[in-house]
Amino acid sequence: MLLPHLFSQESTIVPITVKNPIVEMDGDEMTRIIWKMIKDVLILPHLTIDLKYYDLGVKHRDETEDRVTSDAANAVKQYGVGVKCATITPNAARVKEYNLKQQWKSPNGTIRSVLDGTVFRKPIIVKNIPPAVRSWKKPISIGRHAYGDIYRSVEYKVPGPGTAELVFTPANGGERASFTVHEFKGPGVIMGIHNTEKSVRSFARACINYAVGEKIDLWFGAKDTISKIYHAFFKEVFDQEVGARKAELDRLGIRYRYMLIDDAVAQIMKAEGGMLWACMNYDGDVMSDMVASGFGSLGLMTSVLVSPEGKYVYEAAHGTVMRHYYEHLKGNPTSTNSVASIFAWTGALARRGELDGTPGVTAFARRLEAIVVRTIEDGVMTKDLAAIAEPKVDKHALTREFIDEIAARLTRDRDEKKI
Ligand code: NAP
Ligand code: MG
Repeated sequence: MLLPHLFSQESTIVPITVKNPIVEMDGDEMTRIIWKMIKDVLILPHLTIDLKYYDLGVKHRDETEDRVTSDAANAVKQYGVGVKCATITPNAARVKEYNLKQQWKSPNGTIRSVLDGTVFRKPIIVKNIPPAVRSWKKPISIGRHAYGDIYRSVEYKVPGPGTAELVFTPANGGERASFTVHEFKGPGVIMGIHNTEKSVRSFARACINYAVGEKIDLWFGAKDTISKIYHAFFKEVFDQEVGARKAELDRLGIRYRYMLIDDAVAQIMKAEGGMLWACMNYDGDVMSDMVASGFGSLGLMTSVLVSPEGKYVYEAAHGTVMRHYYEHLKGNPTSTNSVASIFAWTGALARRGELDGTPGVTAFARRLEAIVVRTIEDGVMTKDLAAIAEPKVDKHALTREFIDEIAARLTRDRDEKKI
């Protein structure tokens, strides 16, 4: 049953004050529409909050020569906490569709370059949405290294026969090192990738910190049997960093496991969850989508970028849900899941509350999260979830209806508890 949209406008209850600003990054398409609804009915009526607003919508990025994206990332550096709506990463089709000046870089890539750090993704577990993998009982969090490898590669389309070489010239005038990559007999492709010790080490440390914070085991998988230098380097750094904190990990009962990446994939399918799976950049990109759909829907996957300096950007793991947006533009009703976007807001608010020492703000965020989960468990959910819920749900909520239902429950809960 959908409750009427009720605001207790005459209520004398004072909104909760958020002490320090949160950097808000607006985005594109269907998620931009959801974003505004969430802000208008779930956030602003309940909080007095200073939002530093940056419009990362693709048209505004284009108008500012994409400066708005680095400005937003620098604002996160300044204020410590950001919340981001999904954004279009332009490809050739998008350049045409939005009449863009050029194929601007991925905003998330730009933000990650400014802040560095690791992206952690965690599914939201709801009782009546059973995971596709029977053994999964607890969340599987994924820690994705957010720097380098193919995401910072140099690529070249080889036109014909010739020699591809890998050359390193030391800055201090030492001897050059050079290796033949391949003697081409005909056309082909080559790619040069890199990573830095600093970034890999901070990735390992961030993962250990996350595992310690959540008191969960830490898994890491790579392919050091094949890549005896590049992948092996990651393994060595993890071994060193875990070794340095061994006593603490032992005391907390946190186990570290290194596996070959293919073994890790097989083990994950048999595990019950409740671990952090540290992944190299590409593995994290791919595996987080697999884990997200395994837990039910992309709409239930949250994501946070944690920088080595302790700056945070929260977002939903999914994209701008383009297909739904086009339906929306045609005037058709949509049923887009807003849960991960709501949890982006609550993640940022809870963190803000912790950093500011304002438990009331953190409590508000946790209360909103509990209400969202409870609403789905009561059978009110969007179409993506209704299709897989157990017991079956016959009627799904539309995009707006779901958010209004949460808003009504949140207001009622507040009035009952007189918070
Ligand atoms: P997407 O937005 O993740 O959606 C892909 C499909 O997954 C949707 O069509 C929908 O399936 C389902 N889905 C995803 N989120 C959902 C939600 N909240 N509720 C219900 N269903 C959901 O990927 P896309 O449509 O391929 O990409 C659109 C744009 O997003 C691209 O321009 C890409 O660059 C961008 N993107 C941005 C980010 C980011 O900012 N973090 C991340 C990924 C992609 P059905 O069609 O079956 O309903
Ligand atoms: Mg991906």
